[in-house]
Amino acid sequence: GNPKRIVILGAGYGGLAAALRLQKKLRRGEAEVTLVNKHDYHTLTTHLHKSAAGTDHPDNARVDLKEMLNSRRTRLLKAEVQRLEPTERKVVTDRGVLRYDYLIAGLGSEPEMFGIPGLKEHALTIRSTNSVRLIRQHIRYMLAKYKTQPKRLDYLTFVVGGAGFTGTEFAGELADKMPELCRLFDVDPSLVRICSIEAGAAPLPPGMPRELVRYGMEKLTAKGVSFKLTTSIRECTPEGVRLSDGEFIPAGTVIWAAGVRGNRLLEEAGFETARGRVAVDPCLRSRQHREVFIVGDSALVLGPSGTPYPPTAQIAVQQGRYAADSLLAQLHGRRLPPFRYDHRGTVATLGRAEAIGVVGGRAVTGLLAYVLKLLADAGYLFTIGGLPLVLRKTVFRRS
Ligand code: FAD
Ligand code: NAD
Repeated sequence: GNPKRIVILGAGYGGLAAALRLQKKLRRGEAEVTLVNKHDYHTLTTHLHKSAAGTDHPDNARVDLKEMLNSRRTRLLKAEVQRLEPTERKVVTDRGVLRYDYLIAGLGSEPEMFGIPGLKEHALTIRSTNSVRLIRQHIRYMLAKYKTQPKRLDYLTFVVGGAGFTGTEFAGELADKMPELCRLFDVDPSLVRICSIEAGAAPLPPGMPRELVRYGMEKLTAKGVSFKLTTSIRECTPEGVRLSDGEFIPAGTVIWAAGVRGNRLLEEAGFETARGRVAVDPCLRSRQHREVFIVGDSALVLGPSGTPYPPTAQIAVQQGRYAADSLLAQLHGRRLPPFRYDHRGTVATLGRAEAIGVVGGRAVTGLLAYVLKLLADAGYLFTIGGLPLVLRKTVFRRS
């Protein structure tokens, strides 16, 4: 029969993994695959806290999609998805309408703002190459501005909202970068404040072993990060943030890192969602539209304990591969057992040569944890671009 039309939305961790798998395994003439992405590059989102703080060049956090895709097997469409119409089996983009027989949606997440006033307008978020370039420049602008208005200590105050992995990793990088920036801008480092505001009783996600949380807090405090726990941000204004205990922190920079929700396009398309994440069947298909697979941050998949898996790159990659395999199985009249997540471990960095994590069921800290993280990152680069990409993003990286 006619080749099936497969459309993949998003070339993030999930979408790219699916595309690469299909590219490798589809038989010739069996299907036409179109990968749609807003940009012509894949974003290494897990590195963005470094690009934002300025400890790494933003270009090191992206990879040209053309390098990884075989243009004869996968059509790359650089376009912004505007609307999904699952009943009609079509997707509307700013570059035209796409019709599909199978859809793999990996559109990722967006910052969750919980309707807190002023955040959208006045806070910055770590989510894309563009958003982190803005943060990087804004930090420098604040230091430069302070030099012209030395009474404005708020220009030297950096508030990080939320101390999950993102907020914590970013705070660590920023603290590492600050001495260099202070030298560059002639600013007294003792006047700089990096405040991590966390609603929960401790930083880092609830599952983190307590000794690791303590270790992480000690390391960050030593670098100059101050923590305010069991306190939430209630409002953000151009002048700073209002906290749940009534305090107002005057700050020229507010980085919002207090959680994510699924891409809005899915709920707008009528999929059943919770916090924007689509509840899928055990095979990652929409319960309403079985030809639609949802992978990554916009999928809500329950783990064995009945709680949803967290939105992580590690899970997104495995889901992307699974969706591709499952789709192939369907094309070949087979069925695949349900998706199973294989957890390799979690490591969060705390700046240069410092990290904490749980790998192989064991708590790891310090340089060892940091090296394990580097190896995991290199492993990912190897799977998408082989040794040349690993070398380019490690040994020959842009400084
Ligand atoms: P994404 O990787 O976000 O990809 C979504 C893609 O869709 C993007 O390419 C985007 O451009 C595209 N897109 C979105 N909307 C549209 C549209 N309308 N039209 C066209 N294209 C669109 N996870 C880990 O497992 N380990 C870590 O160490 C880790 N570190 C992190 C550090 C930071 C600073 C952050 C912010 C996150 C980190 N995460 C980590 C989480 C991880 O990045 C996400 O879970 C992962 O990116 C989700 O993959 P995804 O494929 O669902 O979405
Ligand atoms: P998160 O949801 O894990 O953490 C957000 C934090 O913000 C929570 O601790 C929450 O209590 C706090 N918070 C919420 N509202 C607040 C408010 N009004 N004021 C102050 N604090 C508030 O979000 P994240 O850190 O962005 O992580 C998102 C996902 O990405 C997670 O699944 C995480 O595992 C993953 N991630 C992983 C890594 C890693 O493995 N190294 C790094 C970054 C992100």
